[in-house]
Amino acid sequence: MNLKSITLENFRNYEKADFLFDPGVNLIVGDNAQGKTNLLEAIAYLGSGKSFRAQKTSEMVRFHTDFGQMEGTVFSQDREQTLRFVLFGSARPRQIYRNGVKKKSAAELSGVLPTVLFCPEDLMMLKSGSSQRRRFSDLALCQLRPNYDAALAEYNRILEQKNRILKDQFDDPSIGAILPEYDTRLCQVGALLISYRSRFFQALGESAKRFHSQFSGGSEEFSLEYKTVSTVTDPFAPVQTITGQLMDHLSSHSRAERETGQCLTGPHKDDFTVRLSGIDLKVYGSQGQTRTSAISLKLAQRELMKREFGEEPVLLLDDVLSELDPGRQDFVLNQIVSGQVFITCCEPGRFTKLGKTIQIKKGTILEESIQQF
Ligand code: ATP
Ligand code: MG
Repeated sequence: MNLKSITLENFRNYEKADFLFDPGVNLIVGDNAQGKTNLLEAIAYLGSGKSFRAQKTSEMVRFHTDFGQMEGTVFSQDREQTLRFVLFGSARPRQIYRNGVKKKSAAELSGVLPTVLFCPEDLMMLKSGSSQRRRFSDLALCQLRPNYDAALAEYNRILEQKNRILKDQFDDPSIGAILPEYDTRLCQVGALLISYRSRFFQALGESAKRFHSQFSGGSEEFSLEYKTVSTVTDPFAPVQTITGQLMDHLSSHSRAERETGQCLTGPHKDDFTVRLSGIDLKVYGSQGQTRTSAISLKLAQRELMKREFGEEPVLLLDDVLSELDPGRQDFVLNQIVSGQVFITCCEPGRFTKLGKTIQIKKGTILEESIQQF
């Protein structure tokens, strides 16, 4: 699968730009703040309907304009397909088209253009707070399983409503009477999330273990453990069983929740830990071990997606290669001999030998060149 072209109109700092890409490596070069990450954001959004940086859709629409759009031609599932998003600067819902036909949700694009993003913050995800790790696993799982995406959106909606009720009941205690209804729904959907996550982390951990073993020459054993609500004894158990265990945990915290006005427990606090030969990376890992393990996780994510969709997902490396020492750069580059890759950097240095180079300045294409092998 590969993205053949993308047209951006009033997207971030692009007024209008037409990009033609190489099916192999595309090197996106430019100074700071010229639009390199914006381009990767557009590519990832086109494939998933999700931005890895925007809080609101309207942020992506160019300043002082009412709407923006992106349209891409993709070779995927043995044919050429088009994907198009229209985004509005107001709260008006976005429009999604696949092959010219309007779609209700981005879930209907699943598998057409899966992407794996790798950025410098990801290199430190095993040392940072748990939200960074949840962001990584949620973005990966949402692409792999559209039903997970829907369940997660519903969970977050219920959670937000419950938090509002918990706050409002300080002023009006009678409002708390509707809380049990929300708790039940939260536990049912939460159990579904745990069920998806347990399977995802198992597969991810197994694959990352293989990459890490190659990376470290077999000297370190990588292991990943999924951490969820403490009353869940087996995250692989039937969803109904997990629902009951979540209910138990919630009821033991319901008083504390009413007192603090916050939802204190549930899979929105989930996390995972990585150990190298039994040693907890978050606590004891060196910077090199932390980075190497993050790379193994990303390569594992790419492998799971390839297995799921039968094609190599598009890899987006945002500023990440230049952050790595030559040994780690080579490991990553050797692992991605096939499939389409987008690499952004300020100083292309040794990477210019790789494929097509596109130079960007202030949201316009300054120069394009193709390296002849
Ligand atoms: P760096 O090398 O520093 O990572 P970059 O080339 O990746 O730089 P981007 O993050 O792609 O930079 O682009 C940042 C620029 O885009 C900033 O100048 C920012 O002001 C501009 N920008 C972001 N959102 C919008 C928007 N909605 N409308 C117009 N410009 C925007
Ligand atoms: Mg950038």
